Amino acid sequence: MKVLIIEDERKTADYLRQGLTEQGDTVTLAYHGIDGQHLALHYDFDVIVLDVMLPGMDGFEILKSLRALKSTPVIMLTARDGVEDRVKGLRAGADDYLVKPFSFMELAARLQALTRRGQARELTLLRVGDLSIDLISRKAMRARQRIDLTAKEFALLALLMRRQGEILSKTTIAEAVWGMSFDSNTNVVEVAIKRLRAKIDVPFGYNLLLHTVRGMGYVLEDRHPKPETELPPQHR
Ligand code: CA
Repeated sequence: MKVLIIEDERKTADYLRQGLTEQGDTVTLAYHGIDGQHLALHYDFDVIVLDVMLPGMDGFEILKSLRALKSTPVIMLTARDGVEDRVKGLRAGADDYLVKPFSFMELAARLQALTRRGQARELTLLRVGDLSIDLISRKAMRARQRIDLTAKEFALLALLMRRQGEILSKTTIAEAVWGMSFDSNTNVVEVAIKRLRAKIDVPFGYNLLLHTVRGMGYVLEDRHPKPETELPPQHR
């Protein structure tokens, strides 16, 4: 799932990002209130982790502006003695809160519960040609063969599949899979694309799905869809 973390304590934010990314989520980080608000309002996330005390704009203000437009689930991070904050947050439209310090497992479990509650926000089974991934069981299959992917490769593939047919720039991919603070001068995206291609396309050798669009980025699409006549008889 796509998670936005708005948290100015870099250690906490980076720790959360690492944990979530390892379990295959795509994480966007904002260390500043204004940046966080911008991202929350202009991009779609499955869930937002929102700290209360932030530079520029606090969590309540961000939540207020978000709730005027969207119902994205929000979990607030509050201080141990912040009872008032919790009440204020829930009244302002937060869906849940966590008291600092908390364990990663606790956050992960709450996020899962929240996104389940927000049900069917996204399809759990995505398909492009004969390649499919299940976002819940985290399995990737092509031509009925299981493909083993690392967490990052899965996150990258999930992003490409969610936005199939759309050319994604290296920056977009880097931000979605590696987080906002990613250094775009490295070749980490190219390397990851190459590895992914070696797993999802090369062994199958036909109908390549992951395409490079020179100077623009990458796109996952089925350019040779099966003709209609191959549908089962009842669909003819
Ligand atoms: Ca803070």
